Parts: sequence; C-alpha cells; structure tokens
Amino acid sequence: MTALITGITGQDGGYLAEQLRAEGTAVHGLVRRGEDPPTHLAGCTLHEVDVLDGAALTHAVRDVAPDEVYNLVGLTSVAQSWQDPVLAAELNGVVVARLLDALWSLQEDTGRRVRLVQASSAEIFAGATSAPQDEGTPLSPHSPYGASKAFAHSLVQVFRGRGLHAVNAILYNHESPRRPATFVTRKITSTAAAIAAGTATELVLGNLDARRDWGWAPEYVDAMVRAVRHDEPDDYVVATGTAHTVAEFVEAAFLRAGLPDWERYVRVDPEFVRPVDAVELAGDASKARDVLGWQPQVDFTELVGRMVDADLAGPHRC
Ligand code: GDP
Repeated sequence: MTALITGITGQDGGYLAEQLRAEGTAVHGLVRRGEDPPTHLAGCTLHEVDVLDGAALTHAVRDVAPDEVYNLVGLTSVAQSWQDPVLAAELNGVVVARLLDALWSLQEDTGRRVRLVQASSAEIFAGATSAPQDEGTPLSPHSPYGASKAFAHSLVQVFRGRGLHAVNAILYNHESPRRPATFVTRKITSTAAAIAAGTATELVLGNLDARRDWGWAPEYVDAMVRAVRHDEPDDYVVATGTAHTVAEFVEAAFLRAGLPDWERYVRVDPEFVRPVDAVELAGDASKARDVLGWQPQVDFTELVGRMVDADLAGPHRC
C-alpha cells in the first residue's frame, strides 16, 4: 500500500504519516522547496513540489502511483484567508481541481482507481442556523477560507458522481501540541504556559464568545483513513458534537497551568476580531460512528490538559 499526502508537514500530515507508517504503508509527501521537514517525518519519502504548478503536481501523482491520496495541503487559517483570499482560492480550491483532474485522467488512461480523501472543513457551514450540523446541512461559508473549502467540497462530490473514489472528511476544529499558535487553542495554551513560567504577562485575544467543537487531531486523521478505505465513497462529518466558547477554553487552560484567575491576564483587542465569524460550529458525527465505527475518545478537558502540559514541558514544532 502506498499513500501520498499533500501538506505532510502540517499538524495532520505528521499524525497521519505516523499512523500509516506504523501499519506498514509506504508514505510519500509533497513539501515546499527548501522546507525543513519535522523529525517525525523520518521514514517518509518527501518530494519537493510546488502544488500551484499544475504540471508538477500531476507529474508527482503519476510518479508516486499511490493507492490513496490524502489532500491536506492548503491555507489552513481562517484568519489568514482574510489577508490573502487569492491564495486561499488557489491552495484550497484550484489545487483540488488539479488533483481530481489528475486522478480522473489516470483512471481513464490506465484503469487505475486511486482513492482520494479531501480535508473538508466545518467552515463550509459557518452560516448554519442550527447546530449540530451534519452531511446534509446546506453550505454557507462566511470567509474566503470557507468559500474555497466549499468549492473543493462540491468538486469532490462532482467527480465522485463521475466515478472517482473521492471522499470528503468534514473536519471540525482539531487540535494538538503541534498546532501552530496562529490558532486560538495553541495561542492560549502556549501563553498560559509562558505566564505560569513568568515569561509572559498577558494574553491578547479576539472574540471570546465564539463557540467551536474542538477535538484531538490524531483521532481526526484516523477518521480520514477509515473514510477513504470504506468501500463506498461518501462524505463524513468528523466532530465531537460538543461546542465550547473561547472563554471556556481559556479558563480550562489557565486552571491546568495553575492560574485560577484567568480574567486578570486576558485583554480583548479588535485586531483579532474577524470581519465575520461563525458563531456556533458543532458537528453530528453519527454517520462516521455508524458506518466507519469512528468515535472520538479525547474530551474537551483532556484535550486542553494535553496541550497545556506539552507547552509547560517545552516548545513543540508543527
Ligand atoms: P478556526 O475556527 O479555523 O478559525 O480556528 P481558530 O483557532 O483560528 O479560531 C477559533 C475561534 O477563536 C474563532 O471564532 C476566532 O474568532 C476565535 N478567536 C478569538 N481570539 C482569537 C485569536 O486571538 N486568534 C485566533 N486565531 N482566533 C481567535
């Protein structure tokens, strides 16, 4: 078995590569030119490919000849997508079109049916009027990131209708000590640890009332593996089903770091408040449970605890 992972150097790529290698799968990954891969990718075959170069991407797919493609490449931060909506469209949208087209051509030319799982996102439901959301919830992105992910999500469904084994894993926020501090969870846990250690004095945040369904990243990559290996290609929500506010995350993290009076350290700055923000994202993963046998085990308190403990122990790389 051979797997190709785009975006292998990110949080999910690392956990996925570790899981696949542990089961004996040959793991190939696409990296940017000059990128310094994290040590946990030792044992993977890395290819320097600019994914925005269509010919190079197609060539890499043909060259690796994978059984499964995990598309994790992308501009992953909603906040960043407001700064660069064109890059969001290219990395999260155009790249998916190219990959699907490459796999379709391969299937047409050789009869080889390569499977693809797309890292779709809860942000495609940002404007949802009800929670929890499921696979049938209408798409309603609220950000350039969400719009680019909604395009990719739909395109996966289009190519699936055409006969490609293409799957959407609709991933709700999933976190770990490998999460960069551009995401609110790691920003909170790394700052709480720094305050506890006496090397920082305050935590500056945006919207404290936003509610997110946060899960443990290694379990979410396992859901992607199960989804792509199921006989029938389909879409699956991957979520815990329970949302918490940013303020609740802060409170839990500071408590774990030995700081019960979190409000003393937090300041709200409009710089971190988004033009439009999804208010309540929570996913109903019943289908993944029933069809794939997938169920998250790490709950909110455990997740926050693991991240804070890792930050208290020392710096971590993505
Ligand atoms: P996202 O859900 O993929 O955008 O993940 P983030 O971790 O970036 O943001 C989660 C939520 O935290 C969003 O509703 C943000 O508006 C909110 N938030 C509040 N303060 C901050 C902050 O300082 N940084 C980030 N990244 N998000 C913040």
